[in-house]
Amino acid sequence: MGKPDEQTTGPAEVDSGRRHFLKSAGYAAVATGAVAMGGLGAAAEAAADGRRPKKPAEKVVVPTEPIGSIPRPAHLIQANRDFAAGRITRRELDQHREQALRDTIERFIETGSPVITDGEQSKPSFATYPVAGLRLNPGGQVVPFADGHTRQLPLLTEGDFRYQAHGADYLRETRAVLKTIRSKAELPVKQAVIAPSMLSMFYPPLGIRGYSRAQFHEDLVNEAEADVRGSLDAGAHKVQMDFTEGRVSLKLDPDGGMLREFVSLNNEVLDRFTPEERQRIGVHTCPGGDQDSTHSADVDYARFLPRFFDLHAGNFYLQMASERDRRSVLALVREHIKPNQRVFVGVTDPITSRVETPEEVRDRVLEAAEFIPLGQLGTCDDCGFAPFADDKSTPRDTAFAKIRARVLGTRMAAERLGA
Ligand SMILES: [Zn+2]
Repeated sequence: MGKPDEQTTGPAEVDSGRRHFLKSAGYAAVATGAVAMGGLGAAAEAAADGRRPKKPAEKVVVPTEPIGSIPRPAHLIQANRDFAAGRITRRELDQHREQALRDTIERFIETGSPVITDGEQSKPSFATYPVAGLRLNPGGQVVPFADGHTRQLPLLTEGDFRYQAHGADYLRETRAVLKTIRSKAELPVKQAVIAPSMLSMFYPPLGIRGYSRAQFHEDLVNEAEADVRGSLDAGAHKVQMDFTEGRVSLKLDPDGGMLREFVSLNNEVLDRFTPEERQRIGVHTCPGGDQDSTHSADVDYARFLPRFFDLHAGNFYLQMASERDRRSVLALVREHIKPNQRVFVGVTDPITSRVETPEEVRDRVLEAAEFIPLGQLGTCDDCGFAPFADDKSTPRDTAFAKIRARVLGTRMAAERLGA
């Protein structure tokens, strides 16, 4: 193939071959919402009087979404520390958060990202916002990362378990800021929430006097449902359950019992939603991402993905860019994805400092399109850029540059696939 960007006949022929492959394999290109509606109407009319339906004009759309977190600016990291040490008031901390949120939203808009997040500026971490402020025991599960550092989960000390913050709280703050930015009030916002399976590890192994595991389980499922439903009701474009503990669970319990329990618990929550609602709910898997290191990249996707696609969600956000053998993972996805599921493949790697070029991203999307029907394909970043608030390993500029590459590269691929 020639230089990817050149409009020569060579690449065009390759593309036409690819399209032929996609179509012959039953992979119809997805139409835009409006065209699809018109197309379906025309098809139904034609079917009624026996004519062959007129082929609607096709435009390939490959949706692209962020995962969630953006590194916090230095002033917010310092303010979090100062607040924890009692040096500043809650009001002062909130001012830092609001300033960081506004800057994050403005920079997100500049990337051209069709869907944005709040960058989780106000969350202490992707996993612990529901318990922030509770009386906790620090002695929970230790999660070791490949570079030698660890994170330790907290343990609850009392019931009844109630989330201290919900996704909708963050979403409303984001919407309030968007309303002040001309013409951006309606920009789609995605809300990340933590999977109940992660929080299930916060119940102490020895139990809590007067608050049984069964009671905790019931509270947890109710609260996790409220977290998702509140975000849906507040107008989230998508609600994404972060399920980073899925893959690492196969390290903690190689027999897979823990993973089965996690999937079953998460499905208990997902089953409380209608199939239509589940099309706006997603689940994210990754090998962890903290201080430019991972905790479970060495766990073979082949052991994890079949169970992952058992989750009753409509959208699946997969770390993929940093996989060593992407084609074999894509083949696994093709094998296990179900008809009502869309997979968003990671095309940028938050762990590496080098910013991907849009052309690299485009080629990763084209590669994925060889395996995944276009109507079920989307792109995302491999993970959030700073799931923990104190993680300074990635500069904000790098995160936004990678997001811009994802957006541009995905658009380039969609144009190539629809040409
Ligand atoms: Zn992640």
